[in-house]
Amino acid sequence: MEMVTKILATTNEVSLKGGNRKWFEQKITDNVRRALKDLPLERVERPAWRVLVTFSEPVPFQEAARRMATVFGIAAIMPVENVGNTTDDVIAALPHRLEGLAPSSFAVRCLRSDKTFPKTSTELEREIGGEVVALTGWKVDLTHPDLTLHLLIDRDGLYLWTRRVAGPGGLPSGSGGRATCMLSGGIDSPVAAYQMMKRGVRLDFVHFHSVPRTDPASLEKVVDLARILARYQGRCRLAMVPLLPIQEQIVANCPARLRVLLYRRFMVRISQRLAPRFKARALVTGESLGQVASQTIENLAAVQAIAEIPVFRPLITLDKQEIINTARRMGSFETSILPHFDCCSFLVPERPATRSNHGELAKAEETLDIDSLVSEALAGVEMITIDEPAPWSEIPVPRGAEPMEPQR
Ligand code: ATP
Ligand code: MG
Repeated sequence: MEMVTKILATTNEVSLKGGNRKWFEQKITDNVRRALKDLPLERVERPAWRVLVTFSEPVPFQEAARRMATVFGIAAIMPVENVGNTTDDVIAALPHRLEGLAPSSFAVRCLRSDKTFPKTSTELEREIGGEVVALTGWKVDLTHPDLTLHLLIDRDGLYLWTRRVAGPGGLPSGSGGRATCMLSGGIDSPVAAYQMMKRGVRLDFVHFHSVPRTDPASLEKVVDLARILARYQGRCRLAMVPLLPIQEQIVANCPARLRVLLYRRFMVRISQRLAPRFKARALVTGESLGQVASQTIENLAAVQAIAEIPVFRPLITLDKQEIINTARRMGSFETSILPHFDCCSFLVPERPATRSNHGELAKAEETLDIDSLVSEALAGVEMITIDEPAPWSEIPVPRGAEPMEPQR
């Protein structure tokens, strides 16, 4: 297992933010600290537009990378190795460091964070590059090197690295306002939540259930999904809303083919009433165009018609496989596929409408007392605070940080 005491991370897009840049970088630093809290963290610094993490004792790289890959705003994660204090120390470390590597070309890149170091970056790049050529005969290519040997000159020593793991990208959590995500027990909505969080949005969640017609155990699954998502932003809230009385009214009074759309309109009505409690300005759903009958443009528009705040659908253009790939990468997939009895999967007609419209749904709702049904559901909300995120073992190690990966 690769052990490290220093990790360097680059940040994403932050340079675009002009005057806010400092604030953004501070957020990333705080979020890195929070993610690494259970490891022996010594300090987190910000040389230029990077984040430099120092541990007080060696930690497995994959564990540090697993945690850092939950911090939005990080573009890349690099394990760096202390090789000493002088140019001669670097040269002495090269044979061991380059062992087993066979790149078609290489370059040396130097990052001089200690400005008192006697040589400039360019001088060092030339000197080390020359040593590598003498040692290996590798071809130098400064524009498209197959391998880049990086050197960091820090105030407490010189650090080498050749390996780079992709970070999650995005913007730091907390930089993009708040929204309320409608979280089912399925595959899609946790991924929609992840995509919104990736743009810096903080989320709270709403789940609609049909207990006692459905198994109360399925609520546990939704809590588990919220706990996984909490790894990416910290504490969040989850409102458990009883939908059964509304569903029963709809089943008794409205055309069967419109049921799912009518359930959805109530979900949106209730979610937007909860939004102010979460200080949220928008709703988020996991809908994807054409995936099921309720997700045609006509039906999305017919549900949208009663929305009073924006409804974001970050998965709208994604294929199921793309959604699954993200679900695997962020760690929700295994939980999402556990058996679950969804509130929409019962009392669902054989032939749901694929082309409805607002007028038709509004007419079907005429027999219902919408306001009192909504108020009744709100009165039955159980509010759960998710303080304890999922264990780190449930969050995947990012690709390239696994212990078996050949060193590059
Ligand atoms: P998912 O995989 O997220 O369940 P889906 O492909 O099953 O989505 P639908 O069942 O049509 O699609 O649901 C579309 C969206 O509506 C969901 O992604 C979610 O945002 C919201 N939604 C559906 N059911 C519920 C529920 N029981 N509680 C909260 N939100 C829900
Ligand atoms: Mg679903």
